[in-house]
Amino acid sequence: MTPNPFQIQRKNTRQILIGNVPIGGLAPIAVQSMTNTHTQDVESTVAQIKGLEKAGCEIIRVAVPDQEAALAIRSIKNQISIPIIADIHFDHRLAIQATKSGADGLRINPGNIGSKKKIKAVVDVANEYNIPIRIGVNAGSLEKDLFDKYGGASAEAMVESALRNISILEDLKFSQIKISIKASDVKRTVDAYQLLSEKTDVPLHVGVTEAGGLYSGIVKSSLGIGMLLSRGIGDTIRVSLTRDPIEEIRVGYEILKALEIRRRGPDIISCPTCGRCNINLFDIAEKVEKAVMFSTLPVKIAIMGCVVNGPGEAKEADIGIAGGDGIGILFKKGKVIKKFPQEKLVEIILEAFSEYEKNQTEY
Ligand code: SF4
Repeated sequence: MTPNPFQIQRKNTRQILIGNVPIGGLAPIAVQSMTNTHTQDVESTVAQIKGLEKAGCEIIRVAVPDQEAALAIRSIKNQISIPIIADIHFDHRLAIQATKSGADGLRINPGNIGSKKKIKAVVDVANEYNIPIRIGVNAGSLEKDLFDKYGGASAEAMVESALRNISILEDLKFSQIKISIKASDVKRTVDAYQLLSEKTDVPLHVGVTEAGGLYSGIVKSSLGIGMLLSRGIGDTIRVSLTRDPIEEIRVGYEILKALEIRRRGPDIISCPTCGRCNINLFDIAEKVEKAVMFSTLPVKIAIMGCVVNGPGEAKEADIGIAGGDGIGILFKKGKVIKKFPQEKLVEIILEAFSEYEKNQTEY
């Protein structure tokens, strides 16, 4: 394995399997999301999951608020290729039905399922079908006694809740667990994961919950997830955005790419433009980004505003373009290849991209 330039030493956690995706134990950090369709609406849910699969989603979670949704998992699962996790609150019968319908994992909080008998019934079915359980501790739904003990949903209170929930499952000899411990602010989230990571080897699903819309969501998630991953904490990630979940996947991979943990898909370098730029670079960059967004090819593409600094600034790029006065320049690895009219910039870079896809060795 290539050493990570950030010298990240990942914590070696207990490994579990969600469907065919290993989580923890130094397996690649998986990127996941959650649908925002009604799970009972199988057609819309499947369509959304297929879009997410194409974008690189490796595990999908669906809400299971009732029996109809628990039953729908069977038809959904038959039409998708990634593991599906059933998200359940309070009602253990939904967890049992979702498991029987083929869910690859459950997301529950044993603490809010109720009596020991009900929790045991869920654990028994998870054991029978050999699927893991994710405990999801959330600052917003902390147990009242812990809230009172700590005077609020502090990181310490959340960690005690997490450990309590882990013990409930482990006391029942169930160890196929992963856990998340999320708050909607970066500091508490990072503190809580850091503390928890020191106390357990259970694999961690990391994210900042209810992070917000595009800007605040990306910033909070990148900081929170990024800080944790850079400390070696985290086995699977979910970026939470009030947006199309495809955006969550894109941001998730961007975080992994920026930390040089995983490379999936093109890395686009584009300049911010300045007074030297005489082309509509924003428009060009957006068109190129959209055109290559579903590619899995790890290629560096540079889109630079001028010929003065463009190719030089982007020497590392596999392919790139630089705008000029009425012309554009195609370059590869910082070397100028050809000039062409600037109206053709998008077309030329996409041509070069397809060529690169076909035969990387020429570059
Ligand atoms: S590449 Fe050229 S246009 Fe872009 S910021 Fe640098 S100098 Fe300005």
